Amino acid sequence: MGGETARGRKRKSALRPDTALVPVGEPEREIYVWSLPACCLRSLKETAMSEAGERRRLELECSCGRKWRVTSSLDGRILDRFVTHGGPRVGGSYPAA
Ligand SMILES: [Zn+2]
Repeated sequence: MGGETARGRKRKSALRPDTALVPVGEPEREIYVWSLPACCLRSLKETAMSEAGERRRLELECSCGRKWRVTSSLDGRILDRFVTHGGPRVGGSYPAA
């Protein structure tokens, strides 16, 4: 135990807690990433940790059927993988609407 290894720094796969999302179609119900159902959180992580190369996604679609849009994030991995939707609350627009 102890964690720290000499080779490579061990980045935890935890995402920053300041990512906010809304369920698609319910822009009023913004929640933080740590409030996501476990399955959706896993999907988000998998996407965020995946290798680059794809286009950024407009939304996260979980196997449970829920869809989420990222409204804001300070996590570079999230920003690399997802288009952020500021939403009307912060004066943004929905490009995909
Ligand atoms: Zn889910």
